[in-house]
Amino acid sequence: MSRFFSEKHASLEPYVPGEQPKERKYVKLNTNESPFPPAPLAVAYAKSVIGTLELYSDPELRDLCDVASNYFRVEKDEIIFTNGSDEILDFAFSAFCDEKHPAVFPDITYGFYPVFAEKYGIPYETIPLERDLSVDVEKYIGVGKTVFLANPNAPTGIALPLEDIERIVVSNPDNVIVIDEAYVDFGARSAVKLIKKYDNLLVTQTFSKSRSLAGARLGMGFACKELISDLNTLRYSTNPYNVNRVTENAGIGALLDDAYMKENCKKIIENREYTVSELKKLGFEATDSKANFIFVKRPGLGGKDLYLALKESGVLVRYFDKDRLRDYVRVTIGSKKDMDVFLANVKTITDRRK
Ligand SMILES: *Cc1c(COP(=O)(O)O)cnc(C)c1O
Repeated sequence: MSRFFSEKHASLEPYVPGEQPKERKYVKLNTNESPFPPAPLAVAYAKSVIGTLELYSDPELRDLCDVASNYFRVEKDEIIFTNGSDEILDFAFSAFCDEKHPAVFPDITYGFYPVFAEKYGIPYETIPLERDLSVDVEKYIGVGKTVFLANPNAPTGIALPLEDIERIVVSNPDNVIVIDEAYVDFGARSAVKLIKKYDNLLVTQTFSKSRSLAGARLGMGFACKELISDLNTLRYSTNPYNVNRVTENAGIGALLDDAYMKENCKKIIENREYTVSELKKLGFEATDSKANFIFVKRPGLGGKDLYLALKESGVLVRYFDKDRLRDYVRVTIGSKKDMDVFLANVKTITDRRK
């Protein structure tokens, strides 16, 4: 820390992203990226604007908004786009939380939520997950705080039914409920259509996972037009060009090529079910993941040992050094070939320990 760093940030512990090593080629199952390249149409659209990057992007992102409004069946003023969905979550903490509206989220969830709360000095509470790592919905009914829930949750992959999301929204009419649907396309139900009924619901999604555009950085939010307008006030006060033109166009291509995304999600779901059933044969337990990753443990084998042994063998997974998570590893679902390498290496590791 320099002697100039503002005291208000002195204790800020930044989010730690998964490793992106360069020193050797790993089977990379640690950051929930897609194993598939972006849709051919996304690549074509992105390429079509590279030669005109002397121009700023359209701050209103009208072309992308048109396509998205059609795709998601919402009005154009009910959508916002951001530089990854991390940025919209940042805006949401800043916009909808304060002393009167503290934040609340599960003790085990996306690691960025407490970082945003700390960054803005927002008071927040965490609600412990149940013993089986599920969210107890009753604890959010009438909680009277700004709720942040990832659905499916991370890193458990467990999804809540839409009816439960709606009950939380209805029971907290004076607080914004933020539903982070980063993984919704892999088997959960989206709450986007509920934004038509409630003025206190913000749903966020990302192009990073199911649409294979993690490197392009494109996130989006859906809410009634008043909430979107608040978020735009922050967006225009931060960077009106937060989504660059290459990314805007990649996003358009990705939405137009819907069949490609659906086909990839189907493959991920197949590979997920296959991997879990093979792991169970090796003595593993898994949460009921509806995401593009699984959260698994094997009695007697610590998460860190497994993570390190797998890394040694050329497979990267994610280990969380946190209470209640130390037995587990989170494994991104890759191609069938990736998963077979992973499973073979897990088998070698567990055989060695018998
Ligand atoms: C990956 C992820 C995001 C955001 O990803 P971006 O790449 O910033 O769009 C948000 N929430 C959760 C739970 C995630 O796992």
